[in-house]
Amino acid sequence: MKVSRSKELFEEAKKYIPGGVNSPVRAFKSVGETPRFIERAKGSHIWDVDGNEYIDYVCSWGPMILGHAHPSVVEAIKEQAEKGTSYGAPTELEVKLAKMIVEAVPSVEKVRMVNSGTEATMSAIRLARGYTGKNKIVKFEGCYHGHVDALLVKAGSGLTTFGVPTSPGIPEDFAKHTITVPFNDIDALKRVIDEYGDDIAAVIMEPVMANAGLILPELSFLEKVRELTADRGIVLIFDEVITGFRLSLGGAQAYFGITPDLSCFGKIIGGGLPVGAFGGRAEIMDYLAPEGPVYQAGTLSGNPLAMVAGIKTLEELKKPGVYEELREKGKKLSEGMKEAARSAGIYDKLCFKSIESISIVYFTSVDVKNYQDALTSNTEAYAVFFRKMLEQGVYLAPSQFEVAFVSTAHTDEDIERTVKAAEVAFREVRE
Ligand code: PLP
Repeated sequence: MKVSRSKELFEEAKKYIPGGVNSPVRAFKSVGETPRFIERAKGSHIWDVDGNEYIDYVCSWGPMILGHAHPSVVEAIKEQAEKGTSYGAPTELEVKLAKMIVEAVPSVEKVRMVNSGTEATMSAIRLARGYTGKNKIVKFEGCYHGHVDALLVKAGSGLTTFGVPTSPGIPEDFAKHTITVPFNDIDALKRVIDEYGDDIAAVIMEPVMANAGLILPELSFLEKVRELTADRGIVLIFDEVITGFRLSLGGAQAYFGITPDLSCFGKIIGGGLPVGAFGGRAEIMDYLAPEGPVYQAGTLSGNPLAMVAGIKTLEELKKPGVYEELREKGKKLSEGMKEAARSAGIYDKLCFKSIESISIVYFTSVDVKNYQDALTSNTEAYAVFFRKMLEQGVYLAPSQFEVAFVSTAHTDEDIERTVKAAEVAFREVRE
């Protein structure tokens, strides 16, 4: 596979951009490959600057649930661009997208748009603290909530990929109010709430952990988290930046039937443009300025291009049968991968997890139920697997701890090709 142009661009990029990338995992460092510089994308496929074509399971880390350059999304962006790209004033589009989110997500009565998932979680935490008048927040080990100072403690995603438990640059004073507990361990949460409950503003969680690989919640765990937080007046924040509009139109909360107080969104609701949002009970949301005292703002918040891309994406997702289709495709991929592992004789050395259109294969025989389990993965074996898949035209996440996303644009043929490639790659790992 010719990658000379990507190599050249990467060398040049490193002169001007730290590490050559604008988000760490993109550098392909943990898988020992040259990052592919992407030139274009359509549907489930992406093309790099050397002309190589790949079936894409990164899907821009989740947003591209309809595949790339979906015609109705592209058309809407073009039309809006002609009318102006930002006004810094309210638009009907913001009202429309906000209404769509409120109608789709059970717990959300009001919602505020921001520009990224990070901004959403940062603002939700500030709001929870402002609302409760308390300081501490509880997060779960391996959950990633963006690069918010107070949330970069034992976080997943790039931090796990690079083995950085907590980033330097965060004064102890900023992190000292963050308490971490293991996921799926209700007794640990109970102990923390018993000890610090009077000063806990919020418990924040990915209802399905998707930044340390894929860690599924036990339903009783989610129920108990809700119960414990409600009993103590602690704001429960679901970070649905990945799961929102992915597991179902109403996100993980509709999927599992749990009602958080606040929820954070990003990725899908911007249809591939920079966006985030946080929302929840009106009583809490009205604590935000200008209605209430908690300050939160943004020059480009509610950006019209992002709003139209989000509206078109959600309109497509609301059509009958879309989530069934995503589920079927997700299942076909995850079952196919298991079959490929069996054929390659490596099945018992792996752990497969999937939910709806999200999946992962961990290179460990441990049944992964929390962050510590995920860390037992053999990341070198993953790197071998990743490289062999890439060579065969399958673009997986360049990290053992990031998931694969299936979009509505993935075809049966894409998935069949992927499974065939996986059998070859699994054999390579075994040898
Ligand atoms: N929360 C979750 C669950 C995420 O997966 C991410 C990003 O991957 C974020 C928050 C941060 O979102 P962003 O990268 O848009 O700031």
